[in-house]
Amino acid sequence: MATIAFIGLGNMGAPMATNLLKAGHKVCVFDLSETAMAGLAEAGATLAESLHDVVKDAEVVISMLPAGKHVEQVYLGEAGLLGALPEGTLVIDCSTIAPETARRVAGEALHRGIDLLDAPVSGGVGGAKAGTLTFICGGEVDAFDRASPILNDMGKNMFHAGPHGAGQVAKICNNMLLAILMNGTCEALALGEKNGLDPAVLSEIMRQSSGGNWALNVYNPWPGVMDGVPASNDYKGGFLVDLMNKDLGLAFDNADRNKAPIPMGALARNMFLLHAQQGNGQLDFSSIQRMYRGAEKGE
Ligand code: NAD
Repeated sequence: MATIAFIGLGNMGAPMATNLLKAGHKVCVFDLSETAMAGLAEAGATLAESLHDVVKDAEVVISMLPAGKHVEQVYLGEAGLLGALPEGTLVIDCSTIAPETARRVAGEALHRGIDLLDAPVSGGVGGAKAGTLTFICGGEVDAFDRASPILNDMGKNMFHAGPHGAGQVAKICNNMLLAILMNGTCEALALGEKNGLDPAVLSEIMRQSSGGNWALNVYNPWPGVMDGVPASNDYKGGFLVDLMNKDLGLAFDNADRNKAPIPMGALARNMFLLHAQQGNGQLDFSSIQRMYRGAEKGE
């Protein structure tokens, strides 16, 4: 069992840290929010008083922060952790951030003899709670091998995508595809319904045909077709439109940087930006179905 410092106890970080405690690790936690910290005290974590306090005895540091600027604040600069961690520490950053930022932080870590993995996750809050996340890692193979038993206590699939930043690239590609798939699925369901088809019947037909995809299989966007998904709960919970827009922004910047055409991703991004502008940023991303139905204000 390892001595782990966990930084960032939000929607994802809190259940991930809780699963590490359940697996028997010694976990010290830090978040800027006292409320977030209090939740982890109940689960048995040691509460740190500051960023530097949390890593005092840590063999492994895990972070789950909102965006690149937070990751840079935590690790880089004079006040950053990389200057304070002993050589040989393993750092696993699970935040979804730009590959360039991940590479910059990893470069600084390497320079100081610290192993750093970018390890963004797929699986959402449900996966974080259930301990079934997928970790998509970039970095040295040795660091990946070292991290795997710990990641295994928070997830069920671990991939080594390639060198530093590769985990973030793979995550960005996946979420862009997810955005495109969700738009296409919602468009097809709305067209079928306008023709008088039952969306549940149409969903099953497409699921078993060449249009079958993840949204139809496990995340149907039409209210009432599938139990236990956000669409059947007024699109509450799940993966927020605002977070999807953050990830699509990363894909867009990356495509621009690499001169890669992403016409489908750009269209999906504009649909989600429009949807957020109409006040839906805090709904699950499958709520884009409302736009295709012409039912923006509810069913
Ligand atoms: P969140 O906003 O709920 O939590 C982030 C936490 O980090 C907050 O509690 C905040 O107080 C803390 N924090 C910010 N700056 C800090 C600092 N300097 N020191 C200590 N704590 C600090 O975000 P989340 O939903 O948990 O997402 C975290 C990351 O995971 C994001 O990059 C997101 O894109 C990614 N992600 C989220 C989901 C999801 O469904 N929520 C799914 C996959 C990936």
